[in-house]
Amino acid sequence: MKTDVQAGSKSYHNNGSYWFDSLETSLLPAPVEKLPQSVDVAIIGAGYTGLWTAYYLHRHAPHLNIAVLEANTIGFGASGRNGGWCMGWATGIDQMLAQPQRAAAGLALARAMQATVDEIAQVCSREAIDCHFTKAGTLTVATRPFDEQVMRASIEHYRNLGFDAEDFVWLDAAVSKQRLNMDPNYGASYTPHCATIHPARLVKGLGRVLREQGVEIYEQTPVLGFAPGKVTTSRGVVQARHILRATEGYTESLQGQARKLLPLYSMMVATVPLSASMWDEIGLAQRETFGDARRVTTYGQRTADGRLAFGGRAGYYFGSQRKPVIDPNDAALLNVEKTLKELLPMLADTPIAHRWGGLMGVQRHWRPTVTFDKTTGLGSAGGYVGEGVGASNLAGRILADLVLARDTPVTKLAWVDDFARRWEPEPLRWLGAGAIQWFGDRADRHEFATGKRSRFWGGLFNRFVG
Ligand SMILES: Cc1cc2nc3c(=O)[nH]c(=O)nc-3n(C[C@H](O)[C@H](O)[C@H](O)COP(=O)(O)OP(=O)(O)OC[C@H]3O[C@@H](n4cnc5c(N)ncnc54)[C@H](O)[C@@H]3O)c2cc1C
Repeated sequence: MKTDVQAGSKSYHNNGSYWFDSLETSLLPAPVEKLPQSVDVAIIGAGYTGLWTAYYLHRHAPHLNIAVLEANTIGFGASGRNGGWCMGWATGIDQMLAQPQRAAAGLALARAMQATVDEIAQVCSREAIDCHFTKAGTLTVATRPFDEQVMRASIEHYRNLGFDAEDFVWLDAAVSKQRLNMDPNYGASYTPHCATIHPARLVKGLGRVLREQGVEIYEQTPVLGFAPGKVTTSRGVVQARHILRATEGYTESLQGQARKLLPLYSMMVATVPLSASMWDEIGLAQRETFGDARRVTTYGQRTADGRLAFGGRAGYYFGSQRKPVIDPNDAALLNVEKTLKELLPMLADTPIAHRWGGLMGVQRHWRPTVTFDKTTGLGSAGGYVGEGVGASNLAGRILADLVLARDTPVTKLAWVDDFARRWEPEPLRWLGAGAIQWFGDRADRHEFATGKRSRFWGGLFNRFVG
């Protein structure tokens, strides 16, 4: 397998992703400044969640003194490493729509997420953040014969709930192949509610805008723990009326937050830039995002500079280990590359130029949550699993409104105070996460090999995911 990936070539401030490597700006953090003694709002984590929350807080209440405290550099976590799908959807909405008593709440969330894609476009335009935002929708390709029936039934179900042809359509095999020459391709479910972005440009752009607006972002400032009114960092203590946690897959780095969010890895590869004739053969002429319907999620995009960036969900390490960067020769990464080349065989001899991985955050109920307790002043947002690019904007708006006691439509959405119980202690956590991955993988393999649904392994997978 050809590769020009070098292990260990990343500096401490580079998260190892193609996105960071392709930035024109310096990756070095801002010079370390003295921490303030006290602020109105302290936000822990400078990923999308922390920065969107700061952005809307500042927009609605510019008089507030806000400090964002970041252990590493802006966007070092998932926000600077992801697949760049800015989705008008979020984890957990499918399950809500499947339950009659929760369908209305699920529909409200889905509509809010669809609007979020346009909200992000508007902010990027207003603030001159060039993150290669292109809203061309997403193709979920049917790669197994039975996918067509399942996807058509799902579209029908969504239509009955109030979605229409502007939200989801079925593309038959000929049209789907024209859009994306994937193999196999039995057709595709298409939704226009998704944009493709350059993740690191978005997160670094947000950081720049906030700093220009006077919001302080303190990089290289790991928070050790917090209590009402007080944040303890490795560089000293900051008093704060409101303290908002936005640490997603890294939450267990904070004292007292053990087992709140499971750190689960997702892995990505990016090819060298492809020739125009190769793109003619592949498709994605509008830069649609794409994937298929297997359980071990796959996701891809055509980057603005003509590469194919592709990812797949991976695993969990015993004891919630968090690796700052992933070795480019990690077996899970090689597996993602293999899957890409199986789905798009014309890439068989194309070199992979970048391989990286990152941490997602998963709550015990597999849904995002936004919390704020006005008595203690403590709040949090996260738990997006692998779908937080768009969702973190909505969560940030909700959190800002809750802090400012603004009664708005978004504060009535089902994510608010949808508390999850903590994950099980080890070794149960490791066994459970491993079982989910193993059952999902077994079910997918069985289905690709036989072309038939795997009721046994698929049933076990569903049972564990709940
Ligand atoms: C490989 C990969 C691909 C993905 N693809 C997609 C996709 O295509 N579409 C999609 O919607 N979602 C995707 N996701 C998920 C999405 O990237 C995340 O949901 C989103 O970025 C979460 O943003 P966040 O700000 O909550 O967390 P993060 O971006 O992880 O930010 C948390 C920040 O907190 C900092 N921090 C942690 N602990 C501390 C501490 N103790 N003190 C101070 N700072 C701390 C971290 O350094 C980090 O910068 C993907 C994730 C990964 C890993």
